Amino acid sequence: MSRLGERRGGESVLPPYPSEFESEMETEVEETDGEGLTPAAKHPGRRGGVAEGTTNEVHMGSHAPSDRNVPGWMRKDNSSATLDATAVPSRQEMEDDYVTVQHPETPHNEETMHVCRDMRRLLDMREQYVYVSRPSSAAAAGGTSTSGGRVATPRQQKNPFVWEPRPASDHSFEFVRGVVHVYDRNGNVAFAPKHTANEFFKDLHHVLRVVNSGPVKSFCHHRLLLLEQKFNMHLMLNADKEFFAQKGAPHRDFYNVRKVDTHVHHSSCMNQKHLLRFIKHKLRKEPDEVVAKIDGKERTLAEVFELLNLTGYDLNVDTLDMHADKHTFHRFDKFNLKYNPCGQSQLREIFIKQDNLLEGRYLAELTQEVFSDLMASKYQMAEYRISIYGRKATEWDTLAAWVCNNALHCDNVQWMIQIPRLYEIYHGNGTLQNFQQMIDNIFNSLFEVTIDPQSHPQLHMFLQTVVGFDMVDDESRPERRPSKSHMPQPCDWNVPHNPAFAYYAYYIEANLHVLNDFRQSKGLNTFAFRPHAGEAGDLDHLATSFLLAHNIAHGINLRKSPGLQYMFYLAQIGLCMSPLSNNSLFLDYHKNPLPTFLARGLFISLSSDDPLQIHLTKEPLVEEYSVAAQVWKLTSCDMCEMARNSVLMSGFPHQCKQHWVSDQYWLPGVAGNDIHKTNVPSLRVRYRYDTWCNEMRYIYHSELARMPSAPVELRAAQPPGFAASALGTPNGGRETVPRPAPLLEVSVGTAVASKSPPLSPQVTRRIRNGHRHMMMTDGVGSSSGGSTDGEIPGARSRAHYGDDSGDESDDEEEDGSEGRRSSAGLVVSANEMERLERSSSLPSGVTEVSTTVAETIAEGVAPVGAEANGDVASAASDDAGGKAGEEDAAENDSTGEVAHASAADS
Ligand SMILES: [Zn+2]
Repeated sequence: MSRLGERRGGESVLPPYPSEFESEMETEVEETDGEGLTPAAKHPGRRGGVAEGTTNEVHMGSHAPSDRNVPGWMRKDNSSATLDATAVPSRQEMEDDYVTVQHPETPHNEETMHVCRDMRRLLDMREQYVYVSRPSSAAAAGGTSTSGGRVATPRQQKNPFVWEPRPASDHSFEFVRGVVHVYDRNGNVAFAPKHTANEFFKDLHHVLRVVNSGPVKSFCHHRLLLLEQKFNMHLMLNADKEFFAQKGAPHRDFYNVRKVDTHVHHSSCMNQKHLLRFIKHKLRKEPDEVVAKIDGKERTLAEVFELLNLTGYDLNVDTLDMHADKHTFHRFDKFNLKYNPCGQSQLREIFIKQDNLLEGRYLAELTQEVFSDLMASKYQMAEYRISIYGRKATEWDTLAAWVCNNALHCDNVQWMIQIPRLYEIYHGNGTLQNFQQMIDNIFNSLFEVTIDPQSHPQLHMFLQTVVGFDMVDDESRPERRPSKSHMPQPCDWNVPHNPAFAYYAYYIEANLHVLNDFRQSKGLNTFAFRPHAGEAGDLDHLATSFLLAHNIAHGINLRKSPGLQYMFYLAQIGLCMSPLSNNSLFLDYHKNPLPTFLARGLFISLSSDDPLQIHLTKEPLVEEYSVAAQVWKLTSCDMCEMARNSVLMSGFPHQCKQHWVSDQYWLPGVAGNDIHKTNVPSLRVRYRYDTWCNEMRYIYHSELARMPSAPVELRAAQPPGFAASALGTPNGGRETVPRPAPLLEVSVGTAVASKSPPLSPQVTRRIRNGHRHMMMTDGVGSSSGGSTDGEIPGARSRAHYGDDSGDESDDEEEDGSEGRRSSAGLVVSANEMERLERSSSLPSGVTEVSTTVAETIAEGVAPVGAEANGDVASAASDDAGGKAGEEDAAENDSTGEVAHASAADS
């Protein structure tokens, strides 16, 4: 479609769609200022710090004629739209070239209403379980990953391995029915789990029952297909514009946007060639190093190789034989054996274990080399998982000593802890008698060190660099779903077989939850729960993760459950997908659901999983992107979008995300994106947010219709999607007026307006929180909460995102004006509706739409620009695009900035 993406120079153009097409899919072409330039092109020198299009739109809107560009047939209800002259469709001009896709919604019938009600209930459940850190003054003072608040540079921490004494508290703790309770000095419970195991299992059963019910499956399937088609339509209409917007963003391209490898295991973080080179080097330089005890006798490296009948000269990648191949497909056990170089477990012990005769020196050196590769590449980050097995109590100290003594810290890397679900094996060999012992081994040290950092100083320091907990193992092994009421407690779980995924997940998450609450109260960093789930095996794993996890690794099994897939979409739970890894283990590449998920708007990032077994190049993450782009014909915009997602769902500190995504990355929609940093056009971000808002409103609109007070005609023939799109703010938060009304909107709007049954506070909270979960899916949620008090722009938003309890009152305060009531007469008449709109889309105090456009500019936009040129931007936008110069120049500049900043630090 040749120039559909082009402007047409200010003239309003009626879309030439045939009538039968209109009935299928209404397309609203929105023209803008008519200069034929993208905002980036108009402001080539704009500094980073302002989300692309954010300010431009409002400016354009403010002095552009209101509705000259709007085809009359689209605005059937001119009268109500013109009630407030300042609010007439100036949004048309505010949109930078956005062609939105709208479609008629089928009316809610009895079944749909039940389905929506069930899904709302599931979203509420998730909210009760998932840990969301709350801002607290203590956290602000001590949040480690934020370095105390002020946004300065993307440097994470000065040196995390410098001991800073912290006072002990007189808390105590004990495990009650498998979950820890923390007591204060008087013996009162200070922190305890919110839910018992039985409550959780009951809720899990409920989730599974809902997502497996016929009507829910049909509904979700339908909605997902619709989402997919909408995205395809969006691409047809806007792909060119996205492309031009990217071209217009100076300096940025796919290579120099930040991307995080959100799911990668440390023991396979190097590639084969790297490991081979390292082994050969050691064999040449340190042949006499005593490296292992074999049959009770200490052996040097040269002797070990002699015993194995290997020489350095023989060694090549083929003899190393660590690459996953056709024999590993559906054979997780064989895949695990690939961790043994040359098939020899001794070599694995020597080179890729941290708990060996060398105290992990070789692995530490390898890790340092991987670190320096990452630092050289500059734009690639990783979150490496290291194992805590829970088989003995000293594991934490050993691990912490290894990390601290070898100073394994790098600004491009965050640590995560992975817990392999291996109770079965440890019970089998007599290490563990029951499951409670495993929990003790995992959590005792963590609570001890939180009470008194002095008790495990190195662990205390190491934990400050840990951002999350993962849970790993072969998911394809059969298991029995936990029953609702009579599951044995961990201390009674002394049978030889492994507990189910859900059982592990509950006890790990519940203890982690208490630990997080406890640590947050002391101003320490907290940990996200980000398990492997949905790689294989039962849907239980995904249902469990829906309730408990911040985001998950894999998730390919969502393709088997439209219900869960749609719930993951609504909750915007991150999926760290690894199609190349799946290709080696569980699912052929061409069957991978990633492109479908991406089109449907699931929150996706690409990750490498096991570079040692899977990838061939030195940059496994880029290899992953590269293959995906080739096979699925992804555009640069798609890739940059996934890269942006990966940063958002990662555990990197608050100020890194500010530096890499947007100064206000936590805001929904366009305001949370800066094309100069992410190379993601605001069009794309807006499309995603619009679409998601629309779905949320669709789900919640039925609550309105369900109310007895709602008029009959509303229940009978309501097209909630339309009403919703008119109600809300698909404009990423800056819509001042309802959309032009297509089709049935007038009657619906009137119906809603005349009766105006209020939306419950729950609805507003839900929509708001839905986004919060998306953005705060990690330890950084805590840090942004923690760092926030008054330090960063848009501080008011944190009240929304960070604190459930205070939300309503905050809304009341912000809702002081009634100025939009009349303009909203089209559809938004209820006060509650307005609150919904504001709270869902305008959580920031910064770009909030106030009563008039003029005020918006005065209050909202101008400060954003000011901030962009102020402290934050100048401190955080090294190469964020303002230079518009040579890449090298910008590179040097950024290096200089970092150097400068570290000098300032010291
Ligand atoms: Zn993995």
